[in-house]
Amino acid sequence: MLFSKRVQEMLPSSTLALVELANKFRERGYDVISLAVGEPDFTTPHHVIDAACRAMYSGKTHYTPPTGIKELKEAIAEKYRNENGVDVTHKNVIVTPAKLAIFISVASFIDPGDEVLIPDPGWVSYREMIHFARGKPVGVRLDESKDYRLDIDDLVNKINFKTKALIINSPSNPTGAILKHEDIKAIRDVVMDFDLVLISDEIYEKIIYEGEHISPGVYDDLMHYTIIVNGFSKSYAMTGWRIGYLIAPNRFIPQLEKVQQHTISCAPSMAQYAALEAIKDHESVRKMVAEFRKRRDFVYEELSKIEGLHVKKPQGTFYIFPKYDYEIKSAMLAEELMRKKQVAITPGSAFGMYGENHFRISFATSLENLKEGIRRLREFLSEI
Ligand code: PMP
Repeated sequence: MLFSKRVQEMLPSSTLALVELANKFRERGYDVISLAVGEPDFTTPHHVIDAACRAMYSGKTHYTPPTGIKELKEAIAEKYRNENGVDVTHKNVIVTPAKLAIFISVASFIDPGDEVLIPDPGWVSYREMIHFARGKPVGVRLDESKDYRLDIDDLVNKINFKTKALIINSPSNPTGAILKHEDIKAIRDVVMDFDLVLISDEIYEKIIYEGEHISPGVYDDLMHYTIIVNGFSKSYAMTGWRIGYLIAPNRFIPQLEKVQQHTISCAPSMAQYAALEAIKDHESVRKMVAEFRKRRDFVYEELSKIEGLHVKKPQGTFYIFPKYDYEIKSAMLAEELMRKKQVAITPGSAFGMYGENHFRISFATSLENLKEGIRRLREFLSEI
């Protein structure tokens, strides 16, 4: 066979088939509503776009140092020091798209056969990246009855001599739950006792409605084991710019940097200048989050009224993840909903074994779309 085993075994994005089906309906003139999008529906703030244009017109269109331009690395370190209480400097930062930051982290630590603990339900790409490194993803259950908080007993039970790393994601895609201080403390004990690498995916950090975001990096001793991943995609509506970063202890940086050098070389130069402008902009984030909050309240209220659904109010992100009582697999439910009512949602099984009997709705779309989408969903559920 022409293709490598690792690429043959990689699953395509699980939502792709559904997107194709949605497109077929659209082409035939149907009014399709997508509640499956993973990005803000806002445009990047204009002053951020202007900053990128200015940078490009002044010739900043070349390679930058592999770990990023110093001004941006300093701004990122300062943000983490001031807003998150994490004691780091620009030397701890590598500027790179968030997704690549996770890939670099996995590639740098995982040997064939190593096990990586991941949240289940959890973001779809963790599993594929770990497989790609020939490691074994092991799901740690997030349970609806426990507000989707990480089950520490389950976590400890799943550790063995092959366990190398743990990935956490707060606020969580797909559940919208956030980890509390006590969770981080428990994780700290586990990571340090078992000498694990902790990858903390904080990409939804700014999209938060209740509580506060706590980075595990607040503990100096835990930061010694931790790679923080964050970025500009979700907070500043900058998904297309491919810009984010990782923050890691000094002892990790040289190895991680090698992977950065030999893959992307550096993050896009113009996107780095855009990020330098965005990181100072608290007002645009505040406005977007206020809008997301209205939608979250609406969606939560409406879904809570539907019989057979168990809904937790998301504390962050722009996703809600209802559990349902109906006798139908989530992949089938999503397909049927598209065929019969032309509404796109994401099946819970895409996020792991424990995601079955759930579906994810993204409220990164207009209230009007949400109203109509939920109306059709209610109608569909009443018919099954
Ligand atoms: N982590 C999570 C949990 C995500 O949902 C996403 C984006 N869907 C990413 C990382 C990747 O972010 P980016 O597009 O900025 O690389």
